[in-house]
Amino acid sequence: MVATLYINGAWRQASDGGAHDVHSPHDQRVVARVCQATNSDVLDAISAARESFDSGVFTSWSFNERSALVAKIADLLERDADLIARKESDDTGKRFIEAQYDLADVIATFRHFAALGLKEHGRSVDVGLAHITSRIVHEPLGVASLIGPWNYPLLQIAWKVAPALVAGCSFIVKPSELTPQSAIALMKIIEEAGAPQGVANLILGPGSVVGAPLINDPRVDLVSFTGGLTTGQTIMRAAATTIKKLALELGGKNPHIIFADADIDAAIDNAVTAAFLHSGQVCSAGTRLIVERSIHDQVVTEIVRRAGLITLGGPDDVMAETGPLISKSHLINVSLYVDKAVAEGATLLVGGKRSELSEHADGWYYLPTVLDNCTSEMSCVQEESFGPVMTVEVFDTEAEAIAIGNDTVFGLSGGVWSQDAKKAARVASALRHGTIWVNDFGPYRPAAEWGGYKQSGIGRELGEHGLGEYLEIKHIWTNNAPSRSGWFRDHE
Ligand code: NDP
Repeated sequence: MVATLYINGAWRQASDGGAHDVHSPHDQRVVARVCQATNSDVLDAISAARESFDSGVFTSWSFNERSALVAKIADLLERDADLIARKESDDTGKRFIEAQYDLADVIATFRHFAALGLKEHGRSVDVGLAHITSRIVHEPLGVASLIGPWNYPLLQIAWKVAPALVAGCSFIVKPSELTPQSAIALMKIIEEAGAPQGVANLILGPGSVVGAPLINDPRVDLVSFTGGLTTGQTIMRAAATTIKKLALELGGKNPHIIFADADIDAAIDNAVTAAFLHSGQVCSAGTRLIVERSIHDQVVTEIVRRAGLITLGGPDDVMAETGPLISKSHLINVSLYVDKAVAEGATLLVGGKRSELSEHADGWYYLPTVLDNCTSEMSCVQEESFGPVMTVEVFDTEAEAIAIGNDTVFGLSGGVWSQDAKKAARVASALRHGTIWVNDFGPYRPAAEWGGYKQSGIGRELGEHGLGEYLEIKHIWTNNAPSRSGWFRDHE
């Protein structure tokens, strides 16, 4: 058994020898066997991170030195990109080419934060007194637990690891138990790049088992988590005890609004991509179509036709356009979600079942699905399916489109299509979501902040704020001509 836990600069087995198999969602083949940490392994990882942080072994590096480390990691990721993409497509079942795109995004993330680290950090404050120097300085925040999901395993971890390293934090990474392989590869690269012992640690195992110490231990200063709302709530409750800093990237139920004056052909094509890319297992998926009544039939008819054409297939199927769901339990959840929608009055227009093709018999393939006649009260409109399921609602006025688009507890992303630039800008401004696309849906860049309003999360990843999450801000006031304060009498 290969040692796959990385704790205090060494690869090791679980303390009780525990391990689990990782299965391909495409055909259930075993693609890896990895160690499964015990509670005591997690505590060891936290100790290593705490001790390395408190020793100053990494915090004493300058921002420039830490940026150079992160740039080197980007170079090594580039060297190994295809090997890691293969592991990622084995674990997730996504097409190899999609995993390659994801790796390019991972590398771009490391390069973004490496460049950001070279910028001036801190500032002087003019306090209006010639003898006072007032400086705002940015310092590493401390020990961070970095917990990622299975849909974009390495990318979501990269959004955390790269800024944590530039900031000078020590950390424990925990990927989803379903998709551990790319995180193991990243840790090997961080080791090769020369991160000091104990700074980067890797714990593997189910969140329900290894998660508790990562979010409860008082030696952890920050939990940065990407995943579902319910887990986010658990983490927030646990964090209250020790007032941990939190960065939460949770789910979304993202409105995609098409006005009658849009470029309809482009809007339809993007609506199909927004909902069915990676079989809807995307936090920012545009699964909630909100279409102006006068074009409803035209738009929905074409989307249904296009959804029916989508070719599903495994990592190396060159004809495939998207892949399987991550697991059997997820497939069951998506099926139940669709059944409930139909029971609540939605009209199933296409899909709504598992693929019946013989080549998909061993995989978790669910057909692209469109549900029409949906309204805001329905659970399918309010809850995430995290599968290939589009719901359709109609509107008559701009105000109604905005109201529907905001009628959700989530606030991650949204899109608006109109050739009336002023109207599109008004709607973009009125929608309470962290990213809005106008006449587009989906693109992002590491230089732009990413995160959610409302119950989609707390804080921002990427951009400049994404580094700020890992920094403390200190004000240093220096009196260059000390004198008595004179506040209290010094005599009777
Ligand atoms: P989960 O919340 O189930 O899991 C996310 C991570 O948390 C996994 O590593 C999981 O481990 C771990 N975990 C589970 N329970 C605990 C616990 N009690 N304590 C600590 N860690 C725990 O989400 P999914 O993996 O199912 O991911 C899908 C969700 O993530 C969707 O809701 C999606 O919207 C959201 N997401 C949000 C993104 C964003 O940018 N806002 C991006 C991507 C996804 P394990 O899997 O090993 O059990």
